[in-house]
Amino acid sequence: MKLNKRVRMVIIPVIVLSYFSVLVVVYLFERSAYLDYENSRLALHLNQLKSSVAQYTTFVEPYFSAFVKSPILRDILTAKDARFSAYSIEGNLETAIDKLKNIEFNSLSLIVVDANEDIKYFYDNGDDPFSEPNENMLMTAKIMLSERKEHQKIIKVEDGKTIYLQADVINPLTQTPPISGDWDNAVAVVAQLDMKLVDRLKTEFKNEMGYVISQKKDDDFSEENHNRFGVHITSALTPQQFIHIESSQSEITKKLLELLFKQIIAWLIFTVASSFFLITLISRYITKPIRILEKQIIAAGEKGADFPEPIDANDEISSLKKSFFNLYSQLRQSYEKTKILAETDGLTKLKNRRIFTEIVGKLISRADKAGKFAILYIDLDNFKFVNDNFGHEAGDILLKEFSDKLRSAVRPTDVVMTKDYGVARIGGDEFSVILNSFDSDSDVIKVSNRIISIFEGGFICSAGCFPVSASIGIAMYPNDGDSAKELIGNADKAMYQAKKGGKNNYSFFSSRLACEAIRELAIEAVLKAKDYSEFVVYYMPVVDAKTTEIVGVEALVRWFSSDLGFVSPVEFIPLAESRGHIKDLDLWIVNCVFDDLPKLHSVIGNDAKVAINISSAQLGSDDIFLKLMQLLQSKNTTSTNIEFEITETFSAVMSDQVRANLNLFKQAGFSLALDDFGAGHTSLVQLFDYPLDVIKIDKSIVDKILDDGKELVVALIVFCKEQGYKVTAEGVETQEQADVLRNAGADYLQGFYFAKPQPLNELTNFIEKQ
Ligand code: C2E
Ligand code: CA
Ligand code: CA
Repeated sequence: MKLNKRVRMVIIPVIVLSYFSVLVVVYLFERSAYLDYENSRLALHLNQLKSSVAQYTTFVEPYFSAFVKSPILRDILTAKDARFSAYSIEGNLETAIDKLKNIEFNSLSLIVVDANEDIKYFYDNGDDPFSEPNENMLMTAKIMLSERKEHQKIIKVEDGKTIYLQADVINPLTQTPPISGDWDNAVAVVAQLDMKLVDRLKTEFKNEMGYVISQKKDDDFSEENHNRFGVHITSALTPQQFIHIESSQSEITKKLLELLFKQIIAWLIFTVASSFFLITLISRYITKPIRILEKQIIAAGEKGADFPEPIDANDEISSLKKSFFNLYSQLRQSYEKTKILAETDGLTKLKNRRIFTEIVGKLISRADKAGKFAILYIDLDNFKFVNDNFGHEAGDILLKEFSDKLRSAVRPTDVVMTKDYGVARIGGDEFSVILNSFDSDSDVIKVSNRIISIFEGGFICSAGCFPVSASIGIAMYPNDGDSAKELIGNADKAMYQAKKGGKNNYSFFSSRLACEAIRELAIEAVLKAKDYSEFVVYYMPVVDAKTTEIVGVEALVRWFSSDLGFVSPVEFIPLAESRGHIKDLDLWIVNCVFDDLPKLHSVIGNDAKVAINISSAQLGSDDIFLKLMQLLQSKNTTSTNIEFEITETFSAVMSDQVRANLNLFKQAGFSLALDDFGAGHTSLVQLFDYPLDVIKIDKSIVDKILDDGKELVVALIVFCKEQGYKVTAEGVETQEQADVLRNAGADYLQGFYFAKPQPLNELTNFIEKQ
């Protein structure tokens, strides 16, 4: 989980919960304060109501008492002429009522009822001339008279109006409360007025609270009016009557909900604001620095970016940074050291093959920028000679000092990137250079020659002067390969070609040469392994020049390779000679021919000659004769009728050993033929150095017969005959050639005109058919 998320997960619930508990406490507190306030408001209202009621009672009571004893009432009680008296009383009464102006009311009624329930007098301050005394007053009068109650005060609500009713029963004569005997003549005086002030207050409070005026303390307060908050109050209006007043439940609920709503809004605002504030602060001072540190560590770890040096500060993150920086610097240092070790050649301090290949690969991958570049593959010629003859220490010194000279031989502009990267030791005595920014091949040649010239007159170093030179192979990007491996491999092949062309030289890579080199490698591998399973010996008939009868055969080796197809001896014999594999091959062929000898003789006759080619490359070896003789003995055959054909090439000069060997062959009874005479290797003078029996005139000479060279051929044959040699003409392809050669005195003829080289069983068929 990300640090920021973690911070949010910790902070938000804590803030939400703490503010929530604060919300609950504050709400409860405010709720109780509100309810207290409501209660006191109720008390205030109650007091207002009570005092307004008291205004009526305290004012009306003495007034009424005074009225009961007043002459006005006496007039009413004693008046004879009711109409007159009513009129005059009314006048008096209204004057009296005027004094009531101090209190507010709308209607005022007064009745006087006698014991017979007759209405003795009725007054009402309204305008209706037909108004009737109300039932209420009548009932009160009746009840008082019947129950003998002297005085009564009633406050009640009628049709939504609060009414004050006061009644006295009096003796009409004395206008005092009746004594027991007077009750039958007593009259009840009842006055009633509406308590306008009380009603106004009630209307004012109405929306906020309800109230009931009742005889009993808890009377008439229906369940739904009873609020569950306990905000109600009851108080006595008169000793018998109570007023109950209480706030409306829905009003309180509404108020409390409002309160709650405000609290919730406040809670939300505080929660969001505090969370935001805290998270921002934590992010800025804690998580952000950690995140920056994390990024720097990742960049240093993955992308190899430098880890910035931390600023001195006293907090944990800074000390963490400092620790990481130290750790990182140490790691970096040891990484750099290991990198150098892994990339550098220990002896010469040049780059090694691995990193060199990598660099070439990188160059190719950004070939657009690098463009054309060349790889020089340098191999020291005869380095093994130094190592073998002067010791490895001398070899090491040579390599080291050559590396320095190589580095200075390539100018910084020649090599790609830094010199350190463009020059490498990629094998024991193999070096490589990447050349860049050259205009033409001649620039590359210049650098190559500069390197080769280091060895002019031998390589001079602190260990001495050594006969070492350099062969350089050059491969160009993009022509000679599109991968590092291919490019370096082709430079290597080109180097091989340079060596082949005589060492101390350079050679550009060519794909044809490369193919040849590959083929040569394959050929050499087979020769080296002495795997002759695909080799067969063919026999080519040699005929008597005069009779054209077969008088001999020449053994010629054939190789039908499953990998390379037919490989001509012209291709593999020189390779076998130059790579030192010819001795084994020649002995194998001699062995085959010796095996075939009995059959051969039975086909071509016992006197026929069997010629075997022996490479001149081994004529100088001291054991060739011995080996051949051992072979001859093991096969239990004789040396008679066996001819060895030898060719002198530029590489084999006539040495004492060669001469001794040839004499040994002669003495052992073999006949000797000089092959390819006239091809250019053997001079006429040298001819006399050899103990020879036969001269084989080369095909190139025979071919001249048809090109006006007839005289030369004839002269050559005549000369050879005069020296006492037998003469065989090779490569005879036409009747004309055969005739000329015969007439010139050639003893034997050989060529496709007579027969081609063929395997032994085919030769048998061939001869049988003749
Ligand atoms: P070479 O010893 O001079 O052999 C004669 C070559 O000329 C043979 O080629 C033969 O096939 C070819 N030849 C003969 N008559 C004619 C002709 O009328 N027309 C044409 N076009 N060619 C003719 P091959 O067999 O390819 O051998 C080439 C060379 O390879 C030989 O020259 C020889 O130097 C070497 N070689 C062949 N076989 C052996 C072997 O068994 N041992 C050794 N050491 N060298 C061999
Ligand atoms: Ca030959
Ligand atoms: Ca020949």
